[in-house]
Amino acid sequence: MTVDYILSNPAKRLLTFKDNNWIHSDLNSCSPLAMAKAGFFAVSKDCAVCHYCKKELDFWEANDIPWEEHKSHNSECPFIKYYASPPDQVLVVDALKLERDRLVYMMTQEHKKTVVELEKHQEVAKNTFETKRKRGRARKF
Ligand SMILES: [Zn+2]
Repeated sequence: MTVDYILSNPAKRLLTFKDNNWIHSDLNSCSPLAMAKAGFFAVSKDCAVCHYCKKELDFWEANDIPWEEHKSHNSECPFIKYYASPPDQVLVVDALKLERDRLVYMMTQEHKKTVVELEKHQEVAKNTFETKRKRGRARKF
């Protein structure tokens, strides 16, 4: 298990809002509890990151609804896809399924980045080859 698996526990995520002096109170829509229930943990007083998709959102306004903000910024998040609304409690069996989904999601994101990088290199190599071919200096790999 990864080190940050502990943040799959909403109570642990809630603590991060207190530790970072979250600027919104319990009276606001984006209270620490609502943020934690929506999958977020705090990284500063006004910036939160989703434990499941690593989406980072800042400049929260008092009437923002964390679940809706989360869904609008990343509807592909495994946590958003798993629950129809913020869960009041996360069962161990669900936490384990979500941890699996989170790891698959993160690996998929990394692979997508790698594919994009490889495609960039491929394009550069192709352009270089074409330029040299036109000059009659193309070499095989
Ligand atoms: Zn997410």
